[in-house]
Amino acid sequence: MAAVKIDSRMLNNLISSIKRWRKPANKGPRVIARNDHNISRREISRAALTVMKRLQDAGYQAYIVGGGVRDLMLGGHPKDFDVATDATPEQAKELFRGARIVGRRFRILHARIGREVIEVTTFRGHHSDGEEHEARQSEHGMLLRDNVYGDLESDAMRRDFTVNALYYTTNGFAIHDYTGGVEDIEKRLIRMIGKPTTRYKEDPVRMLRAVRFAAKLDFAIESKTAEPLQELAPLLRNIAPARLFDEILKLLMSGQGERTFEHLHRYHLWQHLFPDNARQIEKSPAALELTRRALRNTDKRIQADMRVTPAFLYAALLWPAVNEEQQKLVEKGIPPAPALAQAAQKITSNQLAHTAIPKRFSIPMREIWDLQHRLPQRGGSRAQRQTEHPRFRAAYDFLLLREESGEIEAGLGKWWTDFQQADDELRQQMVRKLQRSGGGNRRGRNSRSGRRRKPRAAE
Ligand code: ATP
Ligand code: MG
Repeated sequence: MAAVKIDSRMLNNLISSIKRWRKPANKGPRVIARNDHNISRREISRAALTVMKRLQDAGYQAYIVGGGVRDLMLGGHPKDFDVATDATPEQAKELFRGARIVGRRFRILHARIGREVIEVTTFRGHHSDGEEHEARQSEHGMLLRDNVYGDLESDAMRRDFTVNALYYTTNGFAIHDYTGGVEDIEKRLIRMIGKPTTRYKEDPVRMLRAVRFAAKLDFAIESKTAEPLQELAPLLRNIAPARLFDEILKLLMSGQGERTFEHLHRYHLWQHLFPDNARQIEKSPAALELTRRALRNTDKRIQADMRVTPAFLYAALLWPAVNEEQQKLVEKGIPPAPALAQAAQKITSNQLAHTAIPKRFSIPMREIWDLQHRLPQRGGSRAQRQTEHPRFRAAYDFLLLREESGEIEAGLGKWWTDFQQADDELRQQMVRKLQRSGGGNRRGRNSRSGRRRKPRAAE
């Protein structure tokens, strides 16, 4: 008789089946057979199907999980597919040429199929089952490392929300549901798996994710899942600013920014992301209006497949605070231009303590602010030159938003609209007309910094 070769995977499977055997019997998953759900393999990207098949052919389990299954069940078009498997990242890497293992907190394999990258994650385990050094927790209960491997069931329990813990496999074409996710999709509820407080402490970003999915899917947040949000919101301070920045882009720049903002505000999370904005919108209806309009504008552009940049959004969110700070400095006698630069510096560095803003966005953001100060100055060849500034278009859009929000009176925006539409001759006429009426080199009469141009002695 040939000797049976036991490799490490078989050994792991054996160990986990012994562990399962020791555990009290559970109900097991709800399995929804292929005829009882609406997911068809035709809606799944070729790359995800290839990854699943290659894992299965090598003797591993492979499931699509997360947003892919959730969005397909809701009749939407998932933006990507994640695959969960019992192969370790190293084992899976063997199967895909050029695949890379990424991440520290969670080690994930990026498998490249054609142009698509599929994230392959190994089933996560319960921490009590794992080796100490593979999982680490901070003093706040935050998970610093979470690389304990397990089986399909433990993987489901380690996911965030029930609607994100549905597994679909082409091996049988069934959906496996360990947490009641199918029912919550029907009820349109975001429900945390396990004890919400513990799960938020493990990873405070889950608070933002709850709100993000509620806004994106137009679901309600189940009451026990929503309840701890206000109290635990300060934990967002413990998240690395770079991760928070990525999360903010997903929150505010995925097409439902305005609705997401309303949720973040309602659940007291906003003030921990954008404290300066939160303070301003409490005291100024124009600041609230500017915030809403900037987000609405971004949503509309995304829906119309137009380019959006975080620079514009950050410019809008921080502008009311910059504006207020600038005025304080002007009142102290600092001229408007340097006052604006100093205010921009201060408010930007305040924000950096909360969320990172990569330089490639903070520089254009400050240029947009700087142009607010320059757009009223249109005399001579200035107007023409301003239109050639790489940030002119964004600054002009921003000016319109400020007028629409009621921060400043309308007028200048219309002038710039006409100027852009005019031919050379008309442009020259427009500038001459300004000069005749004595305008053009001054800041707009309605801009608050413009009003303060009198020498201090005369005040
Ligand atoms: P999206 O449509 O935004 O991609 P998604 O649900 O696929 O939504 P991802 O961030 O791509 O979200 O994560 C994939 C899956 O990984 C999630 O559905 C969830 O099951 C799990 N997951 C991601 N982040 C966490 C987290 N912080 N805690 C627990 N599980 C998580
Ligand atoms: Mg996803």
